[in-house]
Amino acid sequence: MKFENPLAFAKKLDKQDPLKSFRKRFHLPKVNGKTAIYFTGNSLGLQPISTKKFINEEVSDWAALGVEGHVHAKRPWLYYHKFSKKTLAKLVGAKPIEVVAMNQLTVNLHLMMASFYRPTKQRFKIITEAGAFSSDQYAFESQLKFHGLDPETTLIELAPRKGEFTLRTADILQAIEENKEQVALVIFGAVQYYSGQFFEIKKITKAAHDAGAYAGFDLAHAIGNVPLHLHKDQVDFAVWCSYKYLNSGPGGVAGAFVHGRHANDSSLPRLAGWWGHHEKDRFQMKKGFIPMPGADGWQLSNFPVLSGAALLASLQVFEKAGIKNLRKKSVLLTGYLEFLLNQIDNSITPFSVITPDDPKQRGCQLSILMHQNGKSVFQKLTRAGIIADWREPGVIRVAPVPLYNRFEDVFEFVKIFKAAL
Ligand SMILES: *Cc1c(COP(=O)(O)O)cnc(C)c1O
Repeated sequence: MKFENPLAFAKKLDKQDPLKSFRKRFHLPKVNGKTAIYFTGNSLGLQPISTKKFINEEVSDWAALGVEGHVHAKRPWLYYHKFSKKTLAKLVGAKPIEVVAMNQLTVNLHLMMASFYRPTKQRFKIITEAGAFSSDQYAFESQLKFHGLDPETTLIELAPRKGEFTLRTADILQAIEENKEQVALVIFGAVQYYSGQFFEIKKITKAAHDAGAYAGFDLAHAIGNVPLHLHKDQVDFAVWCSYKYLNSGPGGVAGAFVHGRHANDSSLPRLAGWWGHHEKDRFQMKKGFIPMPGADGWQLSNFPVLSGAALLASLQVFEKAGIKNLRKKSVLLTGYLEFLLNQIDNSITPFSVITPDDPKQRGCQLSILMHQNGKSVFQKLTRAGIIADWREPGVIRVAPVPLYNRFEDVFEFVKIFKAAL
């Protein structure tokens, strides 16, 4: 599409938007009595109007039924982890048996690494992107130390070339190939939280497998943002949180994917709990762990129903909108943002968009690197009613989310940003 600059064009795109009605399904925060321009769905997604109803149903069932709610609630709590499977599977491109909602992201990362990072004398290295999200870095570092290894020599963090902001796939593949004797695990943030780069999952996974390593991905910034094909791409495992693009609320229940080829491999070592035990005799409380087939076999504890209710409310919205339609709008919405940013004369206050300009290599987020005065520009945005995100040392992350953001929001944002410069 050929973009244009005036506000009337943004309004025209909003009018033509087949997903425009979805904005009404969300609570939009206000700043100084005015609806904010909310561009932080990559940090905490907005609340669907239906969330309250879903949570209230569980709270009411608990009041009315007590423990009997495990079996007799409208959505019986015993089976709650199953209710989100179908939609989660669609969102990550998986079969229902390959996904499960459970725990929090970092917990799931450790659980997956307990199974898929089994260093040996010959094979012990982890390859990841430099500057991974802190929690992932701590997980990698502590896993290595847990196995008695030195992160300095066993964790390979791939950085962009000098003068570049994102990694070239060819460089990633080459690094994997160069370490093929020793690499045990290749793990990337599918969409990098800082740069917004969407890595080439299929190619990275294939290179990892060719090298004899497992491939895992952190989908924190990918699920609900970009279409994924984890099953087809042969990814071994993935983990995600659900409070970013999935709009399931602060600390919402996270999730994990384990590829179907590992579904019945009960020999995979794992850290177990009773909810991962086969449901046939879970309540026999007997000695001897027998895992459920598939991702369910990695569950530890009984399901957090209240946060799960919020997840179901949000997934219902995704079912209605469809991830393919969302992606289509997202490419336009972010493309429009990029177009307007590119039109700004940035010689006054220099900035660069560090997110790849190829839509296939990014989700909805653009990361604007401020070469000077970044903090003060960001504060002006905040005062003008824009909720965006500041990352040290100098990046403003903006994420127009196709479910609830409009082309007009993008237009207004760029107008305010330009004035702030
Ligand atoms: C948001 C995010 C996390 C957060 O971890 P929690 O365990 O949910 O607190 C971890 N990793 C990445 C890449 C993230 O973007």
